[in-house]
Amino acid sequence: MSTTATLSVPTPSAAFETSTVERRAVGEHDVLIDIAYSGICHSDIHQARNEWAEGIFPMVPGHEIAGTVAEVGPGVTKYAVGDRVGVGCFVDSCRECENCRAGEEQYCLKGEVPTYNGKDYDGVETYGGYSKQIVVHEDYTLGIPEGIELDVAAPLLCAGITTYSPLHHWGAGPGKKVAIVGMGGLGHLGVKIAAAMGAEVTVLSQSLKKEEDGRRLGADHYAATSDPETFESLAGTFDLIVNTVAATLPVDKYLSLLRLDGAMVNVGIPADADTYHAFSLAGMRRSLAGSKIGGIRETQEMLDFCAEHGIGAEVEVLAPEPAVIDEAYERVVGSDVRYRFVIDVAALEG
Ligand code: NAP
Ligand code: ZN
Ligand code: ZN
Repeated sequence: MSTTATLSVPTPSAAFETSTVERRAVGEHDVLIDIAYSGICHSDIHQARNEWAEGIFPMVPGHEIAGTVAEVGPGVTKYAVGDRVGVGCFVDSCRECENCRAGEEQYCLKGEVPTYNGKDYDGVETYGGYSKQIVVHEDYTLGIPEGIELDVAAPLLCAGITTYSPLHHWGAGPGKKVAIVGMGGLGHLGVKIAAAMGAEVTVLSQSLKKEEDGRRLGADHYAATSDPETFESLAGTFDLIVNTVAATLPVDKYLSLLRLDGAMVNVGIPADADTYHAFSLAGMRRSLAGSKIGGIRETQEMLDFCAEHGIGAEVEVLAPEPAVIDEAYERVVGSDVRYRFVIDVAALEG
């Protein structure tokens, strides 16, 4: 066992504080990672504020982890000390169910082990990346290719794969019109990735405030959803809409933007339920779907794709101080983030 410094929330919605947690001893197939940066995902906020379900407190959020290997267990073959590695939203899965065997561990039928706010299969609580070190099995550790700096790589481990996976699954590419709804942490990476895949990309944002950035990141078009004209001029346009919004939306209006056989995929997970009318789907054989992060194999594929295309997140690096993290959470909730906060956890004292 070892003790590591963390930033944690003692009770739901409480302010952050510095604390420590115990990490397990490095096992046969484990790697000990010195975490350099940990991204702030909107899911961290949902969980730290108990917006989804009863969380486990104290909570150390963080599932966008990038760092270097500090120690390896004797049976480790994939990584060596000094390697640049990442950890995403889960740190174990059953490995036996049909979804695990298919490389879709995020849909493990036994339930994958979340990086934080969960329990290992032996019942021990998990604590995430807002900490200096973490111990993870090598099979659930990703390699960060040369060419992507660790600060801009960290958000790829959740925001990157969460947008890459549905874009890939639903065939974003040349000749396809793709809309990304919401240009925050997930959305801005969705724009970069969809553009790199060759799709014609439109950002649907609440306003035109971030239009210049959207176009710089690769969007061909940019429209404001606060303008009713947007829903008229873009009716029946898209093959695929990836919705990254962390709030409920008027789903029927968005479905009306899909062409025949188009799909709207929700990756944003608001606290409350959305509603829609079946006519919005039936009329144009449209689909409404959802998608959750991605499996280990696909996450590595995404990291390699991003390295090849020079894609990293646009980040604002934060000092690892509780008040700074509290303020960052407020800014994310207020859509005031350009476009992902990452915490310099290596600078945590202790
Ligand atoms: P984020 O950085 O806060 O981005 C969300 C964006 O949605 C905002 O930047 C804003 O973009 C837009 N938005 C916010 N409130 C809105 C409203 N009331 N109406 C319309 N648009 C609004 O959050 P994120 O980290 O990207 O995460 C987004 C959601 O995805 C969260 O619910 C998170 O839990 C979920 N998530 C899901 C998965 C998964 O596996 N499915 C993985 C990670 C995260 P504009 O300013 O451009 O309008
Ligand atoms: Zn996340
Ligand atoms: Zn499984």
